[in-house]
Amino acid sequence: MLSIITNDAIFVFRKMSHRMPVLFVGHGSPMNTIEDNEFTEGWRNIATTIQKPEAILCISAHWYTPSTMITTMENPRTIHDFYGFPSELYQQQYPAPGAPHLAERISTAINEYSVSLDESWGLDHGTWSVLKKMYPAANVPTIQLSIDYSKPLVYHYMLGRSLEFLRDEGVLIIGSGNLVHNLGAIMWNSPNAVQDWAREFEETIVESLQPINNEVLTNFEGIRDTAKKSHPTPDHYIPLLYAIGAAGDTGKLEIFNQKIIYGSLSMTSFKFE
Ligand code: ZN
Repeated sequence: MLSIITNDAIFVFRKMSHRMPVLFVGHGSPMNTIEDNEFTEGWRNIATTIQKPEAILCISAHWYTPSTMITTMENPRTIHDFYGFPSELYQQQYPAPGAPHLAERISTAINEYSVSLDESWGLDHGTWSVLKKMYPAANVPTIQLSIDYSKPLVYHYMLGRSLEFLRDEGVLIIGSGNLVHNLGAIMWNSPNAVQDWAREFEETIVESLQPINNEVLTNFEGIRDTAKKSHPTPDHYIPLLYAIGAAGDTGKLEIFNQKIIYGSLSMTSFKFE
């Protein structure tokens, strides 16, 4: 019998031990990764409340593609996908291993969705700038799932639901974006400013998380104006939909890093048990 146990089977077996929470993390500026501030403190703290994961699956706002892909390389590169920052930031590396067997198994397990295997991406700053604080040893295998920008919001929520099973295998699912993300409206000289529409949008979303209200979260029913101002493009919002999908119907909500900065950038983050 032993001879038919594949690496994948061993991987599954090892991961039966504990059910992981799901996170949505507001990542904000990549500078957070070389700074210590209230938000990076929040990231460190939340990691201490979670049993060390067997693997991490991150859905980052910064891998925004014409189809859904999943990273399958053994050693994902650290992608410095930002411009005009200090050279220290470009020297940062996050050498977490990949998890090719897990990635392949996910693409097979959710075959009602078309998820292609990717060898070219790696870890973008939506992933590593946060994980560098949460798991500085970079010793948790980490993969990314891309966001198909051609799909409606409800698709991402449903795809998130299909990933819920991974929580029982010790996989920590993280959506990394920002609950409000309008860089064109940023008030660079006013770190504590909050635009009224940003506050209104955030309050409505938080109210819609427990219990999860799909009409609001995936259709922006009743909040179309504030949604458009808070997200001129939906890339930083969509990672939340993966998190609430994977959270399931009974997820207990914990809010951390709850703050809007510079008028139109929310760092507010969630843990769903
Ligand atoms: Zn971002």
